[in-house]
Amino acid sequence: MRSKGSKGRPEIERDNLLDYERVYSTFQWSRVEEEMGLTPDESWNIAVAAVDRHAAGQHGHKVALRFYDGRTEGKLTYLQLKLLTNRFANVLRSLGVRPLERVALFLPACPEFYVSFLGTVKGGAVAVPLSTSFMADALTELLRDSEAAVLVTTAALVDRVHREQLPDLRRVVIVGTGPAAGAAEPAPDPGDVAYDRAMAGAADTDAAARADRETPMLLLYTSGSTGKPKGVIHVHGGITHYYQTAGHVLDLRGQDTYWCTGEPTWVAGISYGIWAPLLRGVTSIVYCGDFSTDKWYEVLSKFRVNVWYTTPTALRRLMHSGPAKPAQGHSLKELRHILTVGEPLNPFVIRWSREAFGLQVHDTWWMTETGGIIIANFPCLPIKPGSMGRPVPGVHAAVIDEGGRELPPLEMGQLAIMAGWPAMMRGIWRDEEKHREYFRLPPWYLTGDLAYRDGDGYFWFQGRVDDVIKKDGKRIGPFEVENKLVEHPAVLEAGVIGKPDPLWGESIKAFVVLHPDHPWSAALEADLQSFIERRLGSHLVPREIEPCQALPRTRSGKLMRRVLKALELGLPGGDLTNQA
Ligand code: ATP
Ligand code: MG
Repeated sequence: MRSKGSKGRPEIERDNLLDYERVYSTFQWSRVEEEMGLTPDESWNIAVAAVDRHAAGQHGHKVALRFYDGRTEGKLTYLQLKLLTNRFANVLRSLGVRPLERVALFLPACPEFYVSFLGTVKGGAVAVPLSTSFMADALTELLRDSEAAVLVTTAALVDRVHREQLPDLRRVVIVGTGPAAGAAEPAPDPGDVAYDRAMAGAADTDAAARADRETPMLLLYTSGSTGKPKGVIHVHGGITHYYQTAGHVLDLRGQDTYWCTGEPTWVAGISYGIWAPLLRGVTSIVYCGDFSTDKWYEVLSKFRVNVWYTTPTALRRLMHSGPAKPAQGHSLKELRHILTVGEPLNPFVIRWSREAFGLQVHDTWWMTETGGIIIANFPCLPIKPGSMGRPVPGVHAAVIDEGGRELPPLEMGQLAIMAGWPAMMRGIWRDEEKHREYFRLPPWYLTGDLAYRDGDGYFWFQGRVDDVIKKDGKRIGPFEVENKLVEHPAVLEAGVIGKPDPLWGESIKAFVVLHPDHPWSAALEADLQSFIERRLGSHLVPREIEPCQALPRTRSGKLMRRVLKALELGLPGGDLTNQA
């Protein structure tokens, strides 16, 4: 079976998942281990499985990563990636980095990022990717928290690091992109290592450390939507999860060109921007330029992208810029599968995508802590617009009450996952108590998200537990109201919060970003209120609606309702220091 919208496109290979019910009911992770040739006494080094396994023979000359910054192109084949990551692992060894020590990567999405990330993991250390949007204080705090022994960065970025506050930082490796044009050359620190020189002097063999499925490989900070980012620990054993969901959900096939738009410092850009496509041996596009609709359409068409994993925010931005515009002389015909993650996928985006690309968008739900995709819309199942889909084979998801009991269909509660899937986090760095909190109602992992399940087993996201609005004894998920507001032609974005109210417990307040053609007025406010009343019911009508220029979002595009609430109520937490 194929997605409706892809009819008429050339058949390439069979879909990876044809019968969801059958596969779900018989699925075993141990079979994936067998398929991947992973035995208990074999090393589970995920970088070796992702890169070295594909580097032999003809496949070694296949492009693993194709880089494009909007002007120039670069590429790394599987064989080149194998040799370069060997070198980098040996560079770290020569710097005295011991197994499980943290190596922080504060670099843009350049080839050196991917080489040092994969080389760190291959050599047995733990990678700590940090977004270049972090400014000095946020960056230094995360470097301090992670107790990173080595930092890999560029000459232009290194002066954001307050080294004097980092007693654990022994060496800094400088990637030779030079300082930004016009910037003063930072004073060279005698202990710093030039990346190019160190790589040239390192051996390109014998680099891989042994790892078992419980060996840590990644310390990744969460997005900070609900508070201070948490340091999530992931292990080599996630390998089967990334590999399997790359088939079942991304539907990746051997000859595919794949583009994951997430930065490689965000979990989507790692699990599905690095691990999943490499484990499947396909070619990935890394676009390292800024967002612009023209450039994005150019990337899709010029590189003939087949599978595209992005975010609802990005699709909304494309949607507001008008019809899809492939690069000159190209088309978007090769595009076969579109997916999103990170925030709710609005039904109107799905409708727009059908018109713009002739394809549906497939929502996926997961978290930094889950490591891999947990709930998804599959190519072989019908999409219910607004639902995030069904659990991936091998994962049991449920909606539970406060005592951990599964709720019947259509009742809203906390989304919970039965603990034990391969990519599950193994710890919160330096905060065991926080880690235990997620698992305080065995056998569940508590997601902190609200949802309900319908009679067909589809899950519907309702917001975060912390964002729930308690009005007149009822619990309201803000997302339902937001999602309806953005269907009004005047509204581009909406954020909804609860405000203390002496009569009702809480009242609903909405913040809206308006379309430039629709100026704010009392009449528009009344129209929006009656729009919600007619479509959703009077109990969901926001008592107040306030226009604003932009909503506070994390760097990966997530709405931060806690910031809206703090600003509204004059509470601490309205600052965005976590967000750099
Ligand atoms: P923090 O944990 O630091 O507050 P965060 O939860 O935003 O930040 P991430 O792990 O990047 O950090 O995001 C996971 C969250 O993103 C989920 O808990 C959920 O609220 C939201 N999310 C992810 N995918 C979806 C989706 N498809 N639909 C709705 N929400 C989603
Ligand atoms: Mg979270």
